Amino acid sequence: MTLSGYISLHGGHSGEFCCHAQDGLADIIARYIQMGFRQVGITEHIPPVHSKFLYPEEIVQGLTVDHMYQRFARYFATIRQLQVEMADRIRIFAGMETEAFAGYLPHVRHLAAEFSPDYLVGSVHHVADICFDYSPETYEAAVRACGSVEDLYLAYFDRQFEMIQAVRPFVVGHFDLVRIHDPDYTNRVLQPEIARKIDRNLDLIKDLDLVMDLNLRPLAKGEAEPYPTRSILEKIGSRRIAMVPGDDSHGVVQAGNHVDAGIRLLEEMGFDTQWPVPRLLEIKNE
Ligand SMILES: [Zn+2]
Ligand SMILES: [Zn+2]
Repeated sequence: MTLSGYISLHGGHSGEFCCHAQDGLADIIARYIQMGFRQVGITEHIPPVHSKFLYPEEIVQGLTVDHMYQRFARYFATIRQLQVEMADRIRIFAGMETEAFAGYLPHVRHLAAEFSPDYLVGSVHHVADICFDYSPETYEAAVRACGSVEDLYLAYFDRQFEMIQAVRPFVVGHFDLVRIHDPDYTNRVLQPEIARKIDRNLDLIKDLDLVMDLNLRPLAKGEAEPYPTRSILEKIGSRRIAMVPGDDSHGVVQAGNHVDAGIRLLEEMGFDTQWPVPRLLEIKNE
């Protein structure tokens, strides 16, 4: 059994359940239906495990770790309801996007047991517990904590390897997000030490038969190419790893954008565009 046509398996963040997104979840899903999607995966961010991982806009709004957990519980209640209400128009997969900050593994295991998501997107937004993708300033701080830009890449791909092994996310999110504020990323990913870690992580993804996110968010921001970059996409293609578009949308106006371009790119590069059906894999116990 596979899926076909327009799809996004990473995105649908909504202002209802995420402080750096806009709009209600039902309106976002209505937009997917209007654009001709017959299936979509919604993957709200998991709540933080500790107050030090609250984002500035969450702190400004006076949100605590406890509030965030309660809001996440409401997300799951809402998406399960929408799944049923909209079943005749769209097949919704209720997912969540993980983190890889300190203490993430028992936290993710607990959330998965508590909410039984349909699948997980495994992402790394933190290195040395600094959220490097938040702003150029936090990226700089992560570089300083690691020693150099190269060291940040190495630490990122090591953390990602560990997360993939432990969490076994059905979708590996924005594989090379670490390039986000690095203008020289096309050369950086070819550096031998970094390339070896990229190859190692891709081999693991292949071994575990996971799916990768063709993350279209950079296109929405006017950049030239999605995550991952072309040279990594070629490595993925040669390993015959499945890739599925993800709009990483954070509001109605972003929902479904660039998915057609993403599918065209995958077709041009010889990827299979019959999409695997998301499912929850077993999270490692220790
Ligand atoms: Zn987000
Ligand atoms: Zn993400």
